[in-house]
Amino acid sequence: MTPSDLTFDRNHIWHPYTSMTDPLPCYPIVSAQGTQLQLDDGRKLIDGMSSWWAAIHGYNHPRLNQAMHAQIEQMSHVMFGGITHPAAVSLCRKLIAMTAEKLECVFLADSGSVAVEVSMKMALQYWQARGEKRQQFLTLRRGYHGDTFAAMSVCDPTNSMHSLYQGYLPSHHFAAAPQCRFGEEWDENDADDFERLIAEHHLSLAAVILEPVVQGAGGMRFYHPHYLQRVRELCDRYDVLLIADEIATGFGRTGKLFACEHAGIAPDILCVGKALTGGTMTLSATLTTRAVADTISNGAAGCFMHGPTFMGNPLACAVATESLTILEEGNWQQQVSAIEQQLRAALLPLRAHAAVADARVLGAIGVIECHRAVNMAAIQHYFVENGVWIRPFGKLIYLMPPYIITPRELQQLTDTIRDALEHPRLFQSS
Ligand SMILES: *Cc1c(COP(=O)(O)O)cnc(C)c1O
Repeated sequence: MTPSDLTFDRNHIWHPYTSMTDPLPCYPIVSAQGTQLQLDDGRKLIDGMSSWWAAIHGYNHPRLNQAMHAQIEQMSHVMFGGITHPAAVSLCRKLIAMTAEKLECVFLADSGSVAVEVSMKMALQYWQARGEKRQQFLTLRRGYHGDTFAAMSVCDPTNSMHSLYQGYLPSHHFAAAPQCRFGEEWDENDADDFERLIAEHHLSLAAVILEPVVQGAGGMRFYHPHYLQRVRELCDRYDVLLIADEIATGFGRTGKLFACEHAGIAPDILCVGKALTGGTMTLSATLTTRAVADTISNGAAGCFMHGPTFMGNPLACAVATESLTILEEGNWQQQVSAIEQQLRAALLPLRAHAAVADARVLGAIGVIECHRAVNMAAIQHYFVENGVWIRPFGKLIYLMPPYIITPRELQQLTDTIRDALEHPRLFQSS
């Protein structure tokens, strides 16, 4: 890319959560292969992010590419209204087969946030069809569910964008974030606040929505699966739907194919996205039970009121099917558990470091929580100079590498994080 391309980018193109007038630098990537991103000057960076949970099998994967090539020769897109196609059918067969048994109806959409909107609309229409006015949601503090309006309304109310959109967002109920950590002893009182809220408000609750076990963008927290079991029991007791947002956790990242499996529970509505296409195309899915789908369909509207233009995009469905086929072959389990062991060995000892408040690992996710927020421009530059792509936020430096990463590459990632902790200039002064 020429310097003028970068200037154009800076002056005209928005990047995620950035200023248009004073953006942080962007790094020009021209290709990606396996676990490596290539800068336009030829330098290669080991990828610690899987492009935000998505590229689980690595980049430029021959089988994923082949699936897209084959589909493009047939058709890259066709409308889904009144039309179906083999790519959507194959994908939905696989999704139904690999998720909890009671989930058997699939709604395809184009991004995670839209899958969340769809799940919330399903819950609203479900109760409308049952003749009950239930329009509130109960969720957990420290959650993240996306950037569209309904999704935003159930994101953590203090850490997120609520204050900016106050008056415009519907207000829902927020239970205290789970305190009991994954792998530690369960505290019987951890879900008390949740229990209090569901007992008090169940008659106006359409659904509970949460991220199972891993709270991602709201703080990279791993909570006790018993909490999730308790939520499931309470949803059953009070007849409230449970929506599991597995957009980040789905497809093996936490060591189980879906994070709900840590608790042995099934939601009534499940959202998946991110890794669904192996990080190649944008696609999401919302799955639900026959009972929810039938109730919605027998309501006044007679249908579910949503239908994106690019619903069931064949190219995305074809590559998602191939990504799920790779997962079905099962190597991910060994890969994720090897990554987990190595991350534990490399990151957990850093708890003793003066700059570190906490270190935690679950599946192929490793998190270093620092005492100070990072200096984003400085630390990003440091990482790139050291040949790795790691994108921290706030006080969190975290890794979620492609499952195919080698031990040596993973060591370069963890060594670079360890070394970064030695440089106070990479962090904001308190
Ligand atoms: C990323 C994410 C979303 C939003 O997905 P987009 O594809 O960015 O719209 C929703 N929920 C969770 C848990 C996520 O991690």
